[in-house]
Amino acid sequence: MGAPEAFTATSDVGHWIGGRTVPGRAARRQDVFNPATGRVARQVLLGDADDVRAAVAAAQAAFPAWADTPPIRRARVLNAFLALLNQHRDTLAAMITAEHGKVFTDAQGEVTRGIEIVEFACGAPQLLKGDYTEQVSTGIDNWTLRQPLGVVAGITPFNFPCMVPMWMFPLALACGNAFILKPSERDPSPSLFMAELLQQAGLPDGVFNVVQGDKVVVDALLEHPDVKAVSFVGSTPIAQYIYETGARHGKRVQALGGAKNHMVVMPDADLDQAVDALVGSAYGSAGERCMAISVAVLVGDVGERIMPKLAERAKALKVKNGMELDAEMGPIVTRQALERIEGYIELGVKEGATLVVDGRGLKVPGHEGGFFTGGTLFDHVTPAMRIYKEEIFGPVLSCVRAKDFAEALQLVNDHEYGNGVAVFTSDGNVAREFARRVQAGMVGVNVPIPVPMAWHGFGGWKKSLFGDMHAYGEEGVRFYTRQKSVMQRWAASIGKGAEFTMPTAK
Ligand code: NAD
Repeated sequence: MGAPEAFTATSDVGHWIGGRTVPGRAARRQDVFNPATGRVARQVLLGDADDVRAAVAAAQAAFPAWADTPPIRRARVLNAFLALLNQHRDTLAAMITAEHGKVFTDAQGEVTRGIEIVEFACGAPQLLKGDYTEQVSTGIDNWTLRQPLGVVAGITPFNFPCMVPMWMFPLALACGNAFILKPSERDPSPSLFMAELLQQAGLPDGVFNVVQGDKVVVDALLEHPDVKAVSFVGSTPIAQYIYETGARHGKRVQALGGAKNHMVVMPDADLDQAVDALVGSAYGSAGERCMAISVAVLVGDVGERIMPKLAERAKALKVKNGMELDAEMGPIVTRQALERIEGYIELGVKEGATLVVDGRGLKVPGHEGGFFTGGTLFDHVTPAMRIYKEEIFGPVLSCVRAKDFAEALQLVNDHEYGNGVAVFTSDGNVAREFARRVQAGMVGVNVPIPVPMAWHGFGGWKKSLFGDMHAYGEEGVRFYTRQKSVMQRWAASIGKGAEFTMPTAK
C-alpha cells in the first residue's frame, strides 16, 4: 500500500441540518487538534438549544414520509450508502487518524467494522416482518408488527468517530426513524462526511442530522419532547447521567459506559500467543478502546514466565504519527488525556505497583509537540489500587497475579465494570466454565478483543451498560422500534351481541 493521503482541511466543522451544512450561531467554538503534531487543525462549532430545536424540527418534518417508505426501499438507500463507504473508506480513515491519532490501518479497520453494521441494516426488512397467527379465535387473526419511534438521537465518544455512530444510525434509519447525531467534539469531521454520503445515497433531507457540541447540546436533546430515544456510548459517569436524565424525560435509553477489561492467562496457554494478544489489545489504538485489555490476570507461574517477554515487547513498540504505515501506536487524543494517563502512572508507582516499563515523556522525532506516550507495563498490581479499579483509557497494562482459576474468575467478577473479558487457555473445560460463569457482556476464548459481529449485538454488564438492550444486532432493531399487536375480525363472524366477559378462544 502506498502512503495514504492525509486529511488537512482547515475549515470550521459545523452542523448538518435538513440536508445541508449549517454554520450555526457559533457563539462558542472549540479547537480540534491533530494529536500527532499537537497543533490546532480546525475548529468545531458548539451548538446550542436553538440548533437542537432546528435539527429536531427538520427530523420531525422528514419522519412521516421516511417511516412510510417501504422497508426494502429504505434498505436500498443504505445499500447505496454502503457502496459509497467502500469507495471512500480511506478518506474516512485518514480523517479519523488526523483527529483521533490512531494508526491509519487501525482506522481502516474501524471503518470496516462500521460498514458491517450497514451490511446488517440492509437486511432489516427481514427483521421487521413481525409474527402472524391465523385463527386465534373463530374468524379472528392476530399479528405483531414493529414500527419506528420517530426522532431518535445518538451521542458518541471520541474513540470511534465513525464506527460507534454506525452502531446506531444505520439500524435506526433502516427501521424508519429520523436521526440526530451528536458526535464527540474532539474528532467531529467524519460525522459530516458520513452525512454527505447518506445524501448522495438518496436519503431524503432531514432524515439524518448532525449537531456538533458538548453538554449543552446533549442536555437539549435529553429534554426535547420530540426526541423519543437516545443511544449513548461514552464514559460511565456520563452514561449514568444520560440514562437517568433521559428516563426522567420519558425516553427510551441505551447508555454504554466505560470498561476495565481483564485477560486471564492460564498456565496451559500458549504464551507466545498470549503475549501477542496482550500487546495488541493493551497498546493498540494507544489503549483508547472500550474493549482494550487493561488488566492481565496471570495465573500460577505465568507471571514469572511471561513478564520478560511482555517487557521486551512494550519497550519495542513503534510509536509514531499514525499516518506512517509502520506505526504500531499513535498519539493520545488530547494533551489533557495524556496528562491524565501519565498522572495514573505516577499514582501507580505511589500505590506500590512495580513499574516494569515506563512510557512517560516519550518524544517522537519530528513530532515533538505531539501528544505521545509510550507503552507502560505494571506488575504486582492489587485490587485495592486505584490503577486497578479505575479506567485509565491509555496504553497502560496492569498485571495482577492469581493463584488459580477460581481466584482469577473471582477477581473479574468482583470488578465494577463488565464490558469485555478474555481467557487464554488450552483446556476446553476451563474455557467453557469461564464463559458460563464470568460476569461480563462479551467474552473471548483465546480472542483478546471479542467485539461481536454486526448481527450479534454489542454490550457490557454492570457499570458498562445502563439500559437493557445492547447496541446493533437484533437488540438494535428492537431498540429502534416499538411493537404493536393487531387483532382483526371481519363481517362473517361479527354480530353475536355484546360480550361482557374476557374474550377467549372460541
Ligand atoms: P465521554 O463520556 O467524555 O463523552 C462521550 C460523549 O458525551 C461525547 O459526545 C461528549 O461530548 C458527551 N459528554 C461529555 N461530557 C458530558 C456531560 N457532562 N454531559 C453531557 N454530555 C457529555 O467519553 P469519551 O472520552 O469521548 O470516550 C471515552 C469513553 O467512552 C471511555 O470511558 C470508554 O470506555 C467509553 N466507550 C465505551 C464504549 C462501549 O461500548 N461501552 C465504546 C467506546 C467508548
